[in-house]
This record gives sequence, structure tokens and C-alpha cells, in this order.
Amino acid sequence: MTTKLYYQDSEISSAVVQVIDSGKDQNGYYVILDQSCFYPEGGGQPADTGEIGPAKVWTVQSVNGEIRHYTDTELPKERFSAQLDEQRRWDHMQQHAGQHLLSALFEDTLGLKTQSFHLGKERVTIDLDLDTATKKQLQEIEKKANELIGQALPISTSWVTSEKANTLNLRKPPVVDGDIRLVEIEGIDLNACGGTHPKTTAEIGLLKIISTEKNKGGMRVYFLCGNRAMQYFDFLVETTDQLVVQLNAPATELTQAAETLLAEKTAASKTIKNLQEQLLNLEAKTIVPKNHLIQEIFENRSIKELQQLARLVITQHSAATALFISSTEDDMRFVCAKGIDAPGDMREVLKQLLALTDGKGGGNAQFAQGGGKTTESPIAFLTVFQEALKNFM
Ligand SMILES: [Zn+2]
Repeated sequence: MTTKLYYQDSEISSAVVQVIDSGKDQNGYYVILDQSCFYPEGGGQPADTGEIGPAKVWTVQSVNGEIRHYTDTELPKERFSAQLDEQRRWDHMQQHAGQHLLSALFEDTLGLKTQSFHLGKERVTIDLDLDTATKKQLQEIEKKANELIGQALPISTSWVTSEKANTLNLRKPPVVDGDIRLVEIEGIDLNACGGTHPKTTAEIGLLKIISTEKNKGGMRVYFLCGNRAMQYFDFLVETTDQLVVQLNAPATELTQAAETLLAEKTAASKTIKNLQEQLLNLEAKTIVPKNHLIQEIFENRSIKELQQLARLVITQHSAATALFISSTEDDMRFVCAKGIDAPGDMREVLKQLLALTDGKGGGNAQFAQGGGKTTESPIAFLTVFQEALKNFM
């Protein structure tokens, strides 16, 4: 049985330990210690990481009543000094204690119960049973939480029997049998919890609600505490500073500057579209059929543009049949079209053109388009086109 140093004092971050057992399971090599400051994953709090002698501990899990420290190398049954990743643990304690505070305030002021808690690498969330909290209420809860942090309320732990626990007004009934570990934030929260916590609320540092979203009939609340909240603030400041430079506006006018920019972009897009249409119209006028035949080869033009151009041209020349080809580095695209007075079926022409590629296409008797990869030159397509048209003469 491993002595749980993290329950004796949550601030113990190193110890001399004896490996009393070791093994390998589906997670890899692990060791069991006589005593450990490593918290095993549980109750929403992630596992500690760190080092035991020469080995790195990458996770710690409770398996069949054992605390297994998973290491990157095998360790002999010897004594080693063990060291936690202190920053990681401190971060977990700040988020975890912040969650106690937040859940207590949601329940006691708004009657909203916390269904679950998730402490991720970046995000920290609680899921409330209802999504009734308003923005103003969220702000009030955040303000109250930070007031309680400022009061440095003691956070204490104790052990009671499950019979005793049942007589106490715990926030939620304990999920384990036997002795129950209680965590109390003086005057605010009394709860069964197996996690690690700082000694007073002051050590949470600060609590910031980041955002909320609807979640399965309830509300998911994203929040950050302590150093994480500060890091997020740093990120926001950095982002704002960059935008201030890019948009050439003070932070207070950024939203307005972005709106102006977007409006300008919409107007510019409209202008570009109009100009493109005018250009295509002008280009179409320069394309003149020879013996009712139009054949044009382009580079890197979109199929949409080819279609627009073909429509304009055959509208002007009702007896003409046209083939527009655009080659890119990778493929060949083409549009075949005929005016209303021209003979033939463009689907037949398309079929023969597509035979030169690995691609697909479609259309109707007047207008068809397609393309694909090919090793043939555009000239080969023109030849096939001319041959195909002979069938309609
Ligand atoms: Zn806790």
C-alpha cells in the first residue's frame, strides 16, 4: 500500500521513495512505491507527471487499488528521489479549487447543479444542469468568486466514515464506500473530493469565465483560474496589440475598424465582379468565328470563366460552334457550346474529348463542359473537336 503524500500535504513535490513492486501492462512499464507525491488521475483532475530517479513518469493511474506510476524505462526495486512537475500540479490545483468555488456559487445563488467537470490541457469546463444563467448573473458569479478568492478562505480536508458523511449536508453524495475524504472551503463548500487543493482560496489567484455554450439541455461554462487565466489574458493582449497595428486603430475602436474594413471588402468584391463581367463582354466581342467555328486555347482559366465566355460568344454567333480550352499544369478543362442555329449535340462532342483525359463532365445538347488529367496537347483536343463536328454536317 502506497502512502499518499499528496493527501498529507498537497504542496509536497518531492520525496525519497522505494520501488516496492514493478510490472508492465497495456500502458507500459510501471512501478509501485512505498510513498508517493504523484496524484493519480481521478475526479476530473489529471495525473501528475515528473521523474523517479532516471525515469520519466508520464502518467499515474489507480489500478485495482494500486497506484501505478508509468515510466518511460524499467526501474529496479531500489530507492530513488522522486520529483513532480510542480507547475503542472499547481495549475491543476488552481483550476480544481476554482471549480469548487464556481460550482458552489452556481448552486447556492442560482440553484444550478454541476453535472461534470473537465480539466483539459487548455480548456477547463463545468457542465450545469440548466442553461438559464444570464450574462449578468454570470458576471455577478465571477465577481463573487473573485471576492472569495480575495478573502483567502481556508481550504481544509478531513476523513469521515460513510455513515458520518451521510449525516452531513454534502453538495453531492459520495461515490465511494468506506472512509470519505471531505474538502471544505470555509463557509462556502463542503464536498467529498479526492483531488488536491491549495490551502486557501487566495492561491486560486483569480477566476475568469471565458464563455458559455448550450450543452445537452444545460450550459457548459468555460473558465480559467490563476496562471492559466493570466496566460489567456496575455494572449488576448498580444492579439489586440497586433490588431491595433494591422487595423491602425486604438483598441477601443477595433470593432468599428473591422466593420469598416469588411464593408470595404464587400464593395470591392462587387466592383471586381462588375469589372470582370465587362472584361468578359469585351473579350467575347473580339472572338469571331471562322466557318462557324470558334476555337480558343487559354492557360489557367477557371471552368466558370470559360462557361461565361462561351455563353456570351454563342449568343452573339447563333450559327457557330465553340470549343474553349484552358490548360493548367495538372489538367485540361474545356467547354463546348453551340449557338441555337448550329447543328449537333455537344454531349457527343464532350464524350470524345473526355476520352483523351481521365476526367468527367456533363451538359446538354447546346452546352457541355468537362476536364481531367491528360498527356495530350490542346491541339489534339482541337483535332478531335473538328472531327466530331463533321458527324453533324
Ligand atoms: Zn476537489
